Amino acid sequence: MRSGCDGGCNVARNTIVKTTEESRAHPHASTATPVADSEGVNQAFQGSDSQYRLLFEGNPIPMWVFDRKTLHFLAVNQAAIRQYGYSEAQFLRMTIAEIRPAETVPDLMLDVARRRHGLQEPEVWKHCRKDGTIIDVEVVCHDLKFQESEAMLVAAYDVTARERAQEAAGQAEEKYRTIFDNAVVGIFQHTPDGRPANVNRAFARMHGYDSPEELLAQVTNAAAQLFVEPQRMMEVVTAAATQGIVRGAEVELYRKDRSRFWVIVNLRAVHDPAGKIVLFEGTAEDITNRKAAEAQVNFLAYHDALTGLPNRALFMDRLESALAGARRKSEKLAVLFLDLDRFKNINDSLGHSFGDQLLKVVAERLKESVREQDTVARVGGDEFLIMLSGADHAAEPALAARRLMNAMARPFVVQGHMLSTSSSIGVSVFPDHGQDGETLIKNADAAMYCAKDDGSNRVRVFADRMNRAAVAQLTLENDLRAALEAGEFFLVYQPQMEMATGTITGIEALLRWQHPVLGLVPPDRFIPIAEKSGLILPIGDWVLRTACAQILEWQRHALAVAPVSVNVSALQFRQEGFCSSIRRVLRESGLPASSLELELTESVLLSNADLMRPVLQELKDMGVALAIDDFGTGYSSLSYLKQFRFGKLKIDRSFIREVATSSDDAAITTAIIRMAKSLNMRVVAEGVENQAQMAFLQERGCDEIQGYYFSRPVAASDMGALLSSTLGQVLQADAAASAGVIQH
Ligand code: C2E
Ligand code: MG
Ligand code: MG
Repeated sequence: MRSGCDGGCNVARNTIVKTTEESRAHPHASTATPVADSEGVNQAFQGSDSQYRLLFEGNPIPMWVFDRKTLHFLAVNQAAIRQYGYSEAQFLRMTIAEIRPAETVPDLMLDVARRRHGLQEPEVWKHCRKDGTIIDVEVVCHDLKFQESEAMLVAAYDVTARERAQEAAGQAEEKYRTIFDNAVVGIFQHTPDGRPANVNRAFARMHGYDSPEELLAQVTNAAAQLFVEPQRMMEVVTAAATQGIVRGAEVELYRKDRSRFWVIVNLRAVHDPAGKIVLFEGTAEDITNRKAAEAQVNFLAYHDALTGLPNRALFMDRLESALAGARRKSEKLAVLFLDLDRFKNINDSLGHSFGDQLLKVVAERLKESVREQDTVARVGGDEFLIMLSGADHAAEPALAARRLMNAMARPFVVQGHMLSTSSSIGVSVFPDHGQDGETLIKNADAAMYCAKDDGSNRVRVFADRMNRAAVAQLTLENDLRAALEAGEFFLVYQPQMEMATGTITGIEALLRWQHPVLGLVPPDRFIPIAEKSGLILPIGDWVLRTACAQILEWQRHALAVAPVSVNVSALQFRQEGFCSSIRRVLRESGLPASSLELELTESVLLSNADLMRPVLQELKDMGVALAIDDFGTGYSSLSYLKQFRFGKLKIDRSFIREVATSSDDAAITTAIIRMAKSLNMRVVAEGVENQAQMAFLQERGCDEIQGYYFSRPVAASDMGALLSSTLGQVLQADAAASAGVIQH
């Protein structure tokens, strides 16, 4: 504000001193009437040193003298005339108020009224030129006597450009300060030795400090105090120093409370005119959430979301690198394929959320049962792959597999329920059963299928023939599609005998598949495939129609036919319109509903009790009999049994097999019979093969038996013969003979 007028001020001061003396020589100069022309000025300066006149007249700084009482101009110089655009004559008719914007006039009055002597401090005022433009002028003044008047000499230096520049700079500074202060990204400067020099609020906040000042006071070494890896700061700073700028560097930092967070940093080096780096400055944006999301996505890409175990992709990765190591060290490596037995049953009967919980605890158990360096992965619903590395003893993988099986055999606690399950494990070993990961997994899978085929709950180590079995399994599914049309299915029938009377009280229709190449394929082998592929729906429909037609046929031959039971799989039962399809078959065949019984397994019931109830009710209303099949293998509760009120309960063969020799099976069978009786259900024991079993069941009050001891499943024609024969005779025959009487 005060700079830029030094020369001018000095000139003015000299001028003032002299003119004050001059003015004493002209005591009559009017104070009321302004000097009207330049003549007056000339007079005022008359007698003075012409040099001083020159100084006033020719001074490049605009100057004037005004009367402090009237405010009239008494003298103006050429520079003032140029600056304001008035002629000298015009000036001398004006007051100084007329070169002020109206709003500043009161201030002017006050200022002039202040009695001040000597040289006044320079001040910046706004003045108005003749053309109306406003200029900023720095005014220096001094009081003096001029033509006998109390006057003031004023030097008014135009500082508009400077003022505007300062104003603009101030505005710019203000603007950038606001941006800096309120920026959502952190902005910082630090010295080359890593001391924060300037940071904004966002930067302080993201580091957990209340204010920039607090951060600047507490952080003196960014690398050591803020960086999780101090070395990382060196890297970024060095890159900025050499390349000038670094963009998008991701760094992990500490907050004030030592919690960690991630930022993305842009950094540039600031040089002094000599090219020396004086500062680094940049921006930092918190990307902790993005990093977490990325980590999550990354995790999900390589892990199973339910159990958190590695997925197939990660397993393959680890397997390939472990194989490379095994090759180098000539070590063995084993791949285990583990599948839970009857998991589908658990899922169907206890619900998917229960199934999910079980998978989680199974995953935990598996992880606990292997060594640190082994990998457990979940690769399908209930399928797990386990890699055992460094197995140098040939028997080691099989032993490890057995250990796993034992671990899995311990009961699991899920949602407060205790539950036992078993698993089937297939093992393949590098290099014996495959050179690469894919082959090893494929062969372990084939071995696992063989373990299942052999009755589950066992370990099988891969052998070449297993691959053939796996291929056969695949072709089976294709063949199954054609089987119905090709007429390769037929039904056999197995009677149920009432113990008390020895009469046939029921007949179960059992499906058979005569494969053109493989021969007779047992239902246990193809029904699961048919269920998986949905083919069970048309096949089931065919079974129902064929069984109904057969009953009619027997009835036409005047045979006293007991109700025929047909097995219904879960998929069929859940299919919309199941009841109407039964109704339609009965109507079309003209068979009374009481001649038909449907066998449902426990899992069918429990998968969705609320949906099942009305279907079961409708079937009952129709007059169709209902039996619960394979009882004891599912997970039904007594309350379900009570609710659904089945007519018949069939005890699963697995309990009957050793009922006469195993105290456990005896106890379970006895309990099931008692329970069924108390619920008014008829009890049928499945798979009765000998006299001892029969005697046990008879003693416990079991109502009916079904099994080889009485009759194997037989062809329809043989069943007709059996129905017409005297049942008493059959019973009298010895056990072995009767099992062989009617063979299929
Ligand atoms: P299931 O319904 O429990 O049928 C009884 C099974 O026990 C039959 O096996 C029968 O042959 C066998 N069995 C009967 N008595 C004895 C015995 O004394 N000893 C032994 N070891 N076994 C005996 P099969 O015919 O092989 O059928 C197996 C399963 O396949 C059936 O078990 C049933 O769940 C299913 N299945 C059979 N036919 C059909 C069908 O048409 N539809 C559906 N969805 N499933 C069927
Ligand atoms: Mg059955
Ligand atoms: Mg059964």
